Amino acid sequence: MIDQDILVVGGGLAGLAAALTSDANLRTAVVSKVHPLRSHSVAAQGGINAALANNPDGKDDSWERHAFDTIKGSDYLADQSAAELMCQEAIPTIYDLEHLGVPFSRFPGGVIAQRPFGGAGFPRTCYAADRTGLVILHTLFEQAVKKRIEFYNEWLVTKLVIRDGKCLGVVIFDLTTGQVMPIRARAVIFATGGYGRVYSRTTNSFINHGSGIAIAYRAGVALKDMEFVQFHPTSLFPKNILITEGARGEGGYLLNNKGKRFMEDYAPSAMELAPRDIVARALQTEIDKGHGFEEQYVHLDLRHLGEAKLNKRLPAIREICIHFAGIDPVDKPIPIQPAQHYSMGGIDVDKTCASAVRGFYAAGECACVSVHGANRLGGNSLLETVVFGRIAGEEASRYVHGSEGGEEAEKILLEEALEIKSRVDKWRKIEDGWKIHLLLNKLKIIMSDKVGIFRSKEDLRHALKEIQGLRQDYSQVYVSGDCLRYSQELVNIFEFESMLDLAEVITLGALNREETRGSHYRLDFPKRDDSNWLKHSLVSWKDGQPRIDYRDVKIEKYKPEERKY
Ligand SMILES: Cc1cc2nc3c(=O)[nH]c(=O)nc-3n(C[C@H](O)[C@H](O)[C@H](O)COP(=O)(O)OP(=O)(O)OC[C@H]3O[C@@H](n4cnc5c(N)ncnc54)[C@H](O)[C@@H]3O)c2cc1C
Repeated sequence: MIDQDILVVGGGLAGLAAALTSDANLRTAVVSKVHPLRSHSVAAQGGINAALANNPDGKDDSWERHAFDTIKGSDYLADQSAAELMCQEAIPTIYDLEHLGVPFSRFPGGVIAQRPFGGAGFPRTCYAADRTGLVILHTLFEQAVKKRIEFYNEWLVTKLVIRDGKCLGVVIFDLTTGQVMPIRARAVIFATGGYGRVYSRTTNSFINHGSGIAIAYRAGVALKDMEFVQFHPTSLFPKNILITEGARGEGGYLLNNKGKRFMEDYAPSAMELAPRDIVARALQTEIDKGHGFEEQYVHLDLRHLGEAKLNKRLPAIREICIHFAGIDPVDKPIPIQPAQHYSMGGIDVDKTCASAVRGFYAAGECACVSVHGANRLGGNSLLETVVFGRIAGEEASRYVHGSEGGEEAEKILLEEALEIKSRVDKWRKIEDGWKIHLLLNKLKIIMSDKVGIFRSKEDLRHALKEIQGLRQDYSQVYVSGDCLRYSQELVNIFEFESMLDLAEVITLGALNREETRGSHYRLDFPKRDDSNWLKHSLVSWKDGQPRIDYRDVKIEKYKPEERKY
């Protein structure tokens, strides 16, 4: 049996940051269902926030102002000390990344360049043109290879094994051979990313099924604030590829079919650079009012920025528009519509990335430390992955040094692996049932139609019923071919159960939260209600069903106010 001191699940930014800070005297390995450089982090475009105060318009910036913007942007659901920690750590983190070799864009004097982003009082987003995730991921991967971190690529984790409140390891399905295997680990860090593909309209890559979050949930770890799903205002119509907020940061306008910069009706001061929840709702409202084009999109106009600036600051955006929409933003406005983009909720952990289970940690988009609360500001997610990934690596190392290995773990892990094997055998035996892609498509449409930007009791109840119906169908899915090697169908079957769990938890949380806060907009409860709902939702899998609890938000320095932009 494979034995590790620290097992990091996920080779994106959070996973690599964790592996890099793990104690070099411990055996650390990274498991990833795709090669680490194909992790979704590679797609991040616009940038990463830190109050470096390098921009001439941002000389008065400070980590405290960054923390204030983050907490206000979160609609006061963020845990304030966690947000402060992230913003304070942001500054040394960017310089560390720079010293590791990240090629940030520069201002003429040579300092790291910073651009404006939504919901930020100062231009504090550091970037590498519009390929920021790519360059950070490649740099961290090179460093991980240098540190001789072991990688198990194209292995899908299917189970997290916990006994008596202690994590023992995981069970994996090796995509390259079709084999099921247990891995024993003294500490496990999940850095498995978001669940965007639970929705039909999303900016997320095809691998983002969120299975890590649901695997932790099924193993008994609570999920926090899952009803808060971010919809990005500017995805390219109709493919939903992201057009970075950096495009508006560089000066892009949003225009309706009357040629009006409609954000003046919704956020007269911040305009296009209001937080994403506000801009996404404004955009959808314009489309619903008939002020869009073909009833589906509005325009993002970059023409006035000029070809030279587009080539320098937004080269990938120009390429995406040319290749996927057949238009050049130098001379045509970009058709855009909102799409699911980010998961604010996730595995319940504290600011040391520790869960309630000994030896189990989570970091990055799969985790909910609660720095983003009800709405994440652009540029804060890359920051979260690196800051909290590093903390998770350090904390897991500390835990392993103080813990003892359990002899009984091997037997338990082998039994759990057999259970996974028997599931695969069952899917191979069924001859006439459901093809997984049909169920996948149904689920995504339910979520986009009924659990989207605007929500109501009626829609959410319908969604729950339909999700439960899909569970019945799921018991009759089957694998069509005999070959288990590189079977994407089998991967989808494994992960679909996770997607059903996530869909149910998101919908349940949204149904129960009878208020509007950040990204969660209830048509039937359109106001924020601090007296009843200034609290986190926690959903746990208990006795074969979800159970909801609540926990108060830690309000410290920043008292909740009405958000005005
Ligand atoms: C198009 C786009 C652009 C973005 N741009 C920005 C930006 O400019 N700035 C910003 O701050 N944020 C941005 N974000 C958000 C940000 O990119 C992500 O939140 C962040 O990169 C997530 O990193 P992560 O390490 O948590 O997860 P990921 O990078 O998604 O990595 C997840 C890893 O987990 C592995 N994995 C998942 N499940 C399993 C399993 N069951 N078994 C084994 N392995 C598994 C995957 O293989 C992968 O290696 C953007 C998001 C999108 C969609």
